[in-house]
Amino acid sequence: MTAKILDGKLVSQEIRKSLEDEIRKLDPKPGLAFVQVGENPASTIYVNLKHKACQQVGIYSEIHRLPESTEEIELLSLINNLNSRQDIHGILIQLPLPSHINSYRALDSINPLKDVDGLNSVNVGYLHQGRPNLIPATPKGIIRLLSYYEIDLEGKNTVVIGRSNLVGRPIAELMTQKNATVTLCHSRSKSLKDITRNADILISAVGNPRFIKGDMVKQGAIVIDVGISKLEDKIVGDIDSETVSEIASYITPVPGGIGPMTIAMVLENTLEAYKKFNS
Ligand code: NAP
Repeated sequence: MTAKILDGKLVSQEIRKSLEDEIRKLDPKPGLAFVQVGENPASTIYVNLKHKACQQVGIYSEIHRLPESTEEIELLSLINNLNSRQDIHGILIQLPLPSHINSYRALDSINPLKDVDGLNSVNVGYLHQGRPNLIPATPKGIIRLLSYYEIDLEGKNTVVIGRSNLVGRPIAELMTQKNATVTLCHSRSKSLKDITRNADILISAVGNPRFIKGDMVKQGAIVIDVGISKLEDKIVGDIDSETVSEIASYITPVPGGIGPMTIAMVLENTLEAYKKFNS
């Protein structure tokens, strides 16, 4: 078997086109503010990519880059200011923040209605109660991609590897809400291979290059690769696509899988926040 590609690039382009068509008719435009503290090069790349994507679909966006030495109180004051602006409908704090800033306090200072990353406690609470408001972009993108390819999730044994607040936990919750039967694994999980080999759907969000090999995957499984790592100047995922493609029925590529879906979902969440603001 050679796995079919779940083409996040293609699907995200379709989503972006439809967002662009909708936003063209809006006046005023939706607005999104990015906040980056420090100079983490990966963060700079991600913020620039999302900023460019906003411009392409017609979302007004601005980037606030603060020095590494920024005090928490200064960051909270900026967020407070963005919360009160009528032209800003979404606020996205790029993680990670420097260690002297409490990330939970920073995320919780965002007005939940403008929390387009869905990471503040109010939105996390809503999500886990099964009545989501703004859903974190990466897990939302995974669900959207599976739905685009009409993959039935009901009753499917789903194994999620990684339990971060950003990806692992919310995707496990969303898959549960889609009636999948979910096992959430992490670095202390024992006999990982025995667990993954039972997965109809395997979602890996670890950040360990190519660590899922073909012998860890059930024949015909659907394999979602969230991981992004740099290996010998190449961007690779958690999945060893060479061996896994022979076993799986569907696989997401890296790059071109969950990455572009995540960006599309940030844009969609901004439009969603805008609509709620104006309703
Ligand atoms: P994270 O916060 O570092 O979490 C990694 C998770 O992997 C942790 O729960 C950790 O377990 C688990 N883990 C580590 N080694 C393991 C092992 N050997 N076996 C099983 N589990 C293991 O990372 P994250 O923010 O969720 O991101 C994960 C990856 O996804 C990264 O490569 C990141 O760059 C990528 N990412 C991509 C996108 C995208 O748009 N495509 C978006 C977000 C993140 P413990 O909890 O026990 O430590």
